[in-house]
Amino acid sequence: MRMRAATLSGVKQPLIVQEVELDEPKANEVLVRMVASGVCHSDLHVITGYIDRPYPVILGHEGAGIVEQVGPGVTKVKPGDHVVLTYLPACGKCQWCHRGFPNMCDQGQHLRSGKMLDQTSRLHTLDGQDISNFLFVSTWAEYSVVPELSVVLVPDYVPLEKACLFGCGFSTGLARRPMPCTSALERASPSWAAGGWARRPSRGHASVTRA
Ligand SMILES: [Zn+2]
Ligand SMILES: [Zn+2]
Repeated sequence: MRMRAATLSGVKQPLIVQEVELDEPKANEVLVRMVASGVCHSDLHVITGYIDRPYPVILGHEGAGIVEQVGPGVTKVKPGDHVVLTYLPACGKCQWCHRGFPNMCDQGQHLRSGKMLDQTSRLHTLDGQDISNFLFVSTWAEYSVVPELSVVLVPDYVPLEKACLFGCGFSTGLARRPMPCTSALERASPSWAAGGWARRPSRGHASVTRA
């Protein structure tokens, strides 16, 4: 389908709202009509080049919307459901999810790739060039195809323009409040299902992922 999205072509380039192509959701993916999206400093970091991403890219990572279509195998949501998007997918099956640390889910290993979980793209320019997604959600667009693992079902009465902030800003601020930590792992993992900073010791390196 064709839709409009704010596209960034490179570091310090202007955002250009233009038509792009969006593929249908594949297995375990969801097409969401975006209703609201926040603007986070991490988006600005990509614009300034402080965070490096493959370009062109469609930014935005705290969004909320309504499910339009689901791909094969999706069981969590159905068309018409209201959802908040989370840029940290949580599978519920890996060792980290089982230990109560969904922010370190193994599915996050491709967070920086600009591709979907299967390492292919759903976003393309009109002449067929792949466009990177941002953190699997790319919310600065009319629609987004996201992993089922990246949607959180919310009641219909929740205003989506407020709920979208749970995708990063609110949960990041909540997680960064002073609080007692009982283990090194907890100190290294200040944020939870969505939002903020997540250290990933399972990757064998000590870098900090900011989103
Ligand atoms: Zn953010
Ligand atoms: Zn997991």
